[in-house]
Amino acid sequence: MEILGRVFLAVAFFLLGAILGSYLITYWSRYRTGRKILDTKHCFCFGCGKELKLRDMYPIFSYLVYRGKCRYCSYPIGRGTLLCEVVGGLLLLPVILFTV
Ligand SMILES: [Zn+2]
Repeated sequence: MEILGRVFLAVAFFLLGAILGSYLITYWSRYRTGRKILDTKHCFCFGCGKELKLRDMYPIFSYLVYRGKCRYCSYPIGRGTLLCEVVGGLLLLPVILFTV
């Protein structure tokens, strides 16, 4: 496989892992704080309760752009969220690097 294809797949798998990591930390946070794990709201801020839009939920990117805070109320988002997204991405990288 050509190098560009491998890079594209590596980025895609990293992003997929980051998304999975984001979901895991979200569900863990809901469980840890006694909230319903499968809430009817898609994803919401723990500070103001506002439902987040898609642009607020890009793994890693949204955390960095909003500097680890809610865009609406500045409620702090723990560094564990960023860490879980990055680790999720890194965990899926070997799948593509060593199998294709
Ligand atoms: Zn908020």
